[in-house]
Amino acid sequence: MEPFHAFLTHTCGHCRTPLLRLGLSENNDIVVCPVCLKAGAFDEVLEEGVELSDGYDVSDDTKRLVRRLWAERAAP
Ligand SMILES: [Zn+2]
Repeated sequence: MEPFHAFLTHTCGHCRTPLLRLGLSENNDIVVCPVCLKAGAFDEVLEEGVELSDGYDVSDDTKRLVRRLWAERAAP
């Protein structure tokens, strides 16, 4: 099953792309920039203003999903 996902009005600090929220599990929502593939914990980024990071642990499957969702959004 596809995880919960939604594009946000919040944009990436690096490339201004709308960030994608992904619910990987019940207590683990992350936000990912679909272009840079930088990521961070949803609460930290949205509530604490933490920068997205290259080092955030995102699985290859998740990266593929993010790229696909972004492609679908760009070309519906
Ligand atoms: Zn970006």
